[in-house]
Amino acid sequence: METGEQKNVIEKIKKTAGELEPKLTAIRRELHQYPELGVDLPKTHEIISRELRKIPGLEVQEHKAGGFGIVAVMRGKRSGGKTVLLRADIDALPIEEKGEWGYKSMNPGCMHACGHDGHAAWLIGAAMLLSEIQEEWGGCIKFVFQPGEEVGKGADTLINEDQVLESPGVDMAFAAHGWPSIESGRVGIARRYAFGGVGSFRVKITGKKGHASWPEQTIDPIAAAGEIYQHIPAILTRKIGGTASKVMSVTYMQAGDPKVRNVIPETCEFGGTMRAARRETLEIMGRELKQEAKAVCSVYGASCEVDVQFHGGAVENAQSLLNGVRNAASQILGQGQAYMIEEDNLGGENFAEYSARVPSVYLFIGIRPAGEKEIPGLHSPDYRFDDRVLGKAAGVFATIGYYGCMGKL
Ligand SMILES: [Zn+2]
Ligand SMILES: [Zn+2]
Repeated sequence: METGEQKNVIEKIKKTAGELEPKLTAIRRELHQYPELGVDLPKTHEIISRELRKIPGLEVQEHKAGGFGIVAVMRGKRSGGKTVLLRADIDALPIEEKGEWGYKSMNPGCMHACGHDGHAAWLIGAAMLLSEIQEEWGGCIKFVFQPGEEVGKGADTLINEDQVLESPGVDMAFAAHGWPSIESGRVGIARRYAFGGVGSFRVKITGKKGHASWPEQTIDPIAAAGEIYQHIPAILTRKIGGTASKVMSVTYMQAGDPKVRNVIPETCEFGGTMRAARRETLEIMGRELKQEAKAVCSVYGASCEVDVQFHGGAVENAQSLLNGVRNAASQILGQGQAYMIEEDNLGGENFAEYSARVPSVYLFIGIRPAGEKEIPGLHSPDYRFDDRVLGKAAGVFATIGYYGCMGKL
């Protein structure tokens, strides 16, 4: 139950958050015009630092994460308190933007198609809000603007080189993604896994090339690949328990030459992605795929190479913080507007680097305008971001930061 004083603070956050919307929209649209890739984000770094430097009480540390990351630190004016990390990813994608609007991407072939421009804008907004109420809280908030999320980079450098989780030691961390399937004004929080562990695989089969009229004189790598492919569902359902979240998708298969239809080729290669909530599940998937490929190839007399890689861990929400976060978000958005998502989500997010080390919660912030049934998904060339959520999202982050520092989550 919140006290009268806390209620006043939340009311102030709510009111100021609404007023910030035009400013945050302008920042989001400026970032949208200058999308940059991976960890090389000079213009993005310039815009975000410029805005952060205007905020009273914020110590802006530029050129982090080996170049274009930013860590901004704010300390509450009261004594005591915890240290909270709030993180936004800030990189864009190599996609040509289709939408036509005044703030369209100025960089050909590059677009903020995952909405990280919005993530940066709402985190700047949260810093503005927490600065307004700096007298009301104690502790420390680290606002982290991380490059390289789309390429699996940035988080490790911030943690291992910049020591962003140290001095003061971070007690808890939060991040969010704009989510096209959730209506604007609502926030979804995964009960358990907000993102899955990510792996990938590649299988290359080498047989014996020959005339397609006499297959018995060849070793057909396509036939072997087909058998291995068909066995993948059995790996998922017969080798792994039914309650484990997992998915395995073959995303390419290459063999032969479309212009030469009477030759069985020498090799066939396929590969794809695998996701699972738990690392052990990913390991079983990789091991079973290797075994199956070897067994099938030995029947055919073919040889095979199987390469399995693990790229990142899962983002598991901290059970101890879930109710507090939902409550904080509801106070900004209204009762019932922040809700739990029961199913695990198996996308990938390198926020896993933080959540593996400190208790964390990841939120999905709705960006589908009311009245629209469906909007383009993440990474679509016609992706759009609903700017009307920026103020509220900033308010949600500020409230989580406030309660987190005060030990009330
Ligand atoms: Zn993305
Ligand atoms: Zn993203």
